Formats: sequence, structure tokens, C-alpha cells
Amino acid sequence: MKVRNLEGTSDLNCKCENWLQHWVDYGGYKLPQLCPVKNCREKPVLGAHVQKTDLSDQTVYIVPLCDSHNKTDVVLDLYETTLVLADKRKTCDKPVKLLVPKKPDNR
Ligand SMILES: [Zn+2]
Ligand SMILES: [Zn+2]
Repeated sequence: MKVRNLEGTSDLNCKCENWLQHWVDYGGYKLPQLCPVKNCREKPVLGAHVQKTDLSDQTVYIVPLCDSHNKTDVVLDLYETTLVLADKRKTCDKPVKLLVPKKPDNR
């Protein structure tokens, strides 16, 4: 999956602690051990705003990236990872959080 890192988004904020937390909360996954860029062995330290290189999809997504990959605006080749919507109106600025409710675990 190829995405382009969007520049000038570090000043954007949302209600979450940071965009990495936003990714965890709305992606529903734990933080990965490694940056999802192919062959990268760094830890992801922040949630980056990216767009798919396929221009038919202009949606802005959040993906976890390591520090050095967040500083580039080149096309990044990612392993499959969860793309979380950056659109606050569809995530944390919604009046009601639409997180998938955990199934009651009462066996
Ligand atoms: Zn958020
Ligand atoms: Zn990386």
C-alpha cells in the first residue's frame, strides 16, 4: 500500500491526546511494535496524516510512523496497516463515540 505523507499537519490537533492515540482509539488496535513502512525497524512515535497515492481516494488518514519517516514527504510503501480516518467530524468530534462496543465476556 502506497501513501504520501502530508506536510504541515503537525499543528493540527484533535480531542485525543495526540494523533497516535487517535489511531489507537479509532483503529481499535494496539500500537504496532514497528513503523509500518517496509523494512523500517524503528518504533512508531506519532500518528501521521497521509493520503493514498491513488488519487481517486482523497481521504486523509492517520497511520503510526517513526520519527524519521514522519519528516519526509515522499511516497511511503507500507505493510498492510489500519488506516484511521483523520476527519474529526467522523471520529472524535462526533457527539457520540461510535466505538464498537466490547462484547460482554460472561461465559
Ligand atoms: Zn482524535
Ligand atoms: Zn519508519
